[in-house]
Amino acid sequence: MEFRDLKKQYQVLKPQMDQAMQNVASSGGYIMGEAVALLEQQLQQYVGVKHCITCANGTDALTLALKALGIGKGDAVFVPDFTFFASAEVVALEGATPVFVDVDPSTFNMASESLEQAINQVADDTSLTAKAVIAVDLFGLPADFSRITALAHQHGLYVIEDGAQGFGGRIGDKRSCSFGDIATTSFFPAKPLGCYGDGGAVFTDNDEWAEMIRSLRVHGKGSNKYDNVRIGINSRLDTLQAAILGVKLNAFVEYELESVNKVASRYSELINNSVKEKNVHIDTPMIPDGFLSSWAQYTIKINFADDPHLLRTELQQRLKSVGIPTMVYYPTPMSKQTAFRGLNGFVPTPNAECLSESVLSLPMHPYLLDEDVERVVKAIVQAL
Ligand SMILES: *Cc1c(COP(=O)(O)O)cnc(C)c1O
Repeated sequence: MEFRDLKKQYQVLKPQMDQAMQNVASSGGYIMGEAVALLEQQLQQYVGVKHCITCANGTDALTLALKALGIGKGDAVFVPDFTFFASAEVVALEGATPVFVDVDPSTFNMASESLEQAINQVADDTSLTAKAVIAVDLFGLPADFSRITALAHQHGLYVIEDGAQGFGGRIGDKRSCSFGDIATTSFFPAKPLGCYGDGGAVFTDNDEWAEMIRSLRVHGKGSNKYDNVRIGINSRLDTLQAAILGVKLNAFVEYELESVNKVASRYSELINNSVKEKNVHIDTPMIPDGFLSSWAQYTIKINFADDPHLLRTELQQRLKSVGIPTMVYYPTPMSKQTAFRGLNGFVPTPNAECLSESVLSLPMHPYLLDEDVERVVKAIVQAL
């Protein structure tokens, strides 16, 4: 069994995919070819924002957003303590200070109470200027944007949605990557919408930021690429990747998003029914009312006795021995990362700490069969 079966997806999409790749190869337009502009149009329409600017990867997308907002040395940016490293890395790379905020124990996303505490802490106890919040749609579930955005704007902070894992999610009628002032995503192969290499995109309704980001991604170009009006980076999406994403977006919209939601429901139903009888308590993912997840990960929480970490390691080994791969996303909170030593301690983050010890992600992708899900849950019950 594959954790995320990208080869199977290719087999399903092969005829259109081979044609799309062949078209780019014979077109000669490998950089900023036709497929790039077409994809940007399709993405901004699907997400429901005015501008989509594609780029080389999800980390660059965040960097471009920070640069467009003018964030740098002396600025504080609030980031959840439980996320992928890049969400906070980009802040430090721009010379600003990431301030780690605790997360909600059931949604795993940034907790607004902890954010408020951190904002006050920075104002009272530091000489930093609070500038922005990076809220992450962890594992596919949109962050609590109504509360986070209200709180951020009340304090004069920008909101950046890190939608690297969130593409396709929704709150009500509004889709992921349309929240906040600027949103970003990643097309890394294993993300909800992935290409065959690295890719990313920035989304915004703001014309000025969009223009700035279009310039920044091509060496700070002005009226043409040999007229450089600012210091930028080289971060374009390859035409080949754009063409691949065109084919994948179709499948994503047509059935993949629906399929992962069915897989997730099946997992939760089976786990809740069968594990209940045992003495071990496993929490299945919590999706708040009105929210839709795009299931970048299906992550359970082992709520057991004194040492969930030990039980998790044991469970992982037993599942592996019967050919079921699992992953721990993420074993270390940001504030405990070596690269951020000296930065922790703005506010306590006990939930992030606890999650890093107790979460376990199970195989999840749109081509997972009912019988695969049953096999995974049976193996869990047996192992327990
Ligand atoms: C994957 C990811 C990124 C970075 O995306 P890349 O395309 O790998 O650079 C940023 N934030 C989160 C939350 C991610 O999961």
